[in-house]
Amino acid sequence: MSPQTNLKPSFDEDLQSCLATLESLSSEMTEIRRHLHQHPELSYKEVETPKLIAEYYRKLGLGVRTEVGGRGVVATFRVPDPVKTIAFRADFDALPIQDEKVVPYKSKIPGVSHACGHDGHTAALLGFAKSLVENKDRIRHDVVLIHQFGEELYPGGAMAMIKDGCLEGVDAIYGCHLQSMMPSGRMYYREGYIQAAVDTFRIAVNGKGGYGAGPHEAVDPIVVASHIVTALQTIVSRSTDPLEQLVVSVGSIHAGDANNVIPGEAVLTGTIRSYAPETRKMAREKLIKIASSVADALDARAEVELESGYDALWNHPEETKVVKKAMLTLFSEEDVLETPPVMPGEDFSYYTQHVPGSFFFAGARPEGEAYPHHHAKFDFDESAMLNTAKTFLAILHKY
Ligand code: MN
Repeated sequence: MSPQTNLKPSFDEDLQSCLATLESLSSEMTEIRRHLHQHPELSYKEVETPKLIAEYYRKLGLGVRTEVGGRGVVATFRVPDPVKTIAFRADFDALPIQDEKVVPYKSKIPGVSHACGHDGHTAALLGFAKSLVENKDRIRHDVVLIHQFGEELYPGGAMAMIKDGCLEGVDAIYGCHLQSMMPSGRMYYREGYIQAAVDTFRIAVNGKGGYGAGPHEAVDPIVVASHIVTALQTIVSRSTDPLEQLVVSVGSIHAGDANNVIPGEAVLTGTIRSYAPETRKMAREKLIKIASSVADALDARAEVELESGYDALWNHPEETKVVKKAMLTLFSEEDVLETPPVMPGEDFSYYTQHVPGSFFFAGARPEGEAYPHHHAKFDFDESAMLNTAKTFLAILHKY
């Protein structure tokens, strides 16, 4: 399939006009994206990026709030008698990854790159906003443009921006993540859970070190840790509703350095991925209980550290129907697909806890070799920005 969208003849005139404007902004979006790509800024350290965004909106003549929740920028497009107020969100932070691509727009900041495509999200939202301004008389709704800082690092910018009022008066919210491994030109929606909740854990098992030939005088943390690893397997297999999704994985286990010495400590680390909040809560509680009780039964002590990541992202059914319909207005049926849920976290989850909304994906697999998100050679097909912005427009016109 081609990355170009097929305009269907049945379009209403207002949408068509906005889409035509967007098409003409395509190279501007690419320019903005490439500028941001060369000047990436880490989560919670964004300075120039929010400045550039705010300046863009001032030039468009829109009201702008800066430093929302910290470093966020919120602009509002207003019409005389708005029917609804619809919000769209783009994140703008980069990652502590050295850019290893060979392209003219490669990152100029050593050790920092836009390896997740948030530069593309930003450019798409700015282009979308400009197309609204240039078609003022054709829009019937107020539009809130939310540019979020710090998505990559917990606790994330979303919660802080919500607390600072970015969702006030908003009827529904939408957002998009471009996907470098999904075919360019395809669009993906999903009702219900689309991204997982992430928790990480560290279990330190304290025993009593001793001589390998005299285990009765020691408390062997390796044996205790092994029992804990085995017992943790029951969280998914025996305590979870078989129709729910949950993963509990131990990813590392470290103890001892000599064949004839019983070490004093063993350390396990791992991750929990879940969707439903009850399942997440159960898994966290079970993990603590199993680790401490098994250790206790075997005369050792387990210290459990649980670190929370973002809540699972849940898409509201009605708003997801709007997304799907919007996509089908723009793209052929074979290019509009339901995505399976994915495991990375995403703090868009907090917006849909406050107002109805839906998060979707834009296929952005580049030509040639494609690399996953957070890879040193990550890049994406820039036509995905236009597809994202067009979908935003079509969503708005569905109201
Ligand atoms: Mn991302």
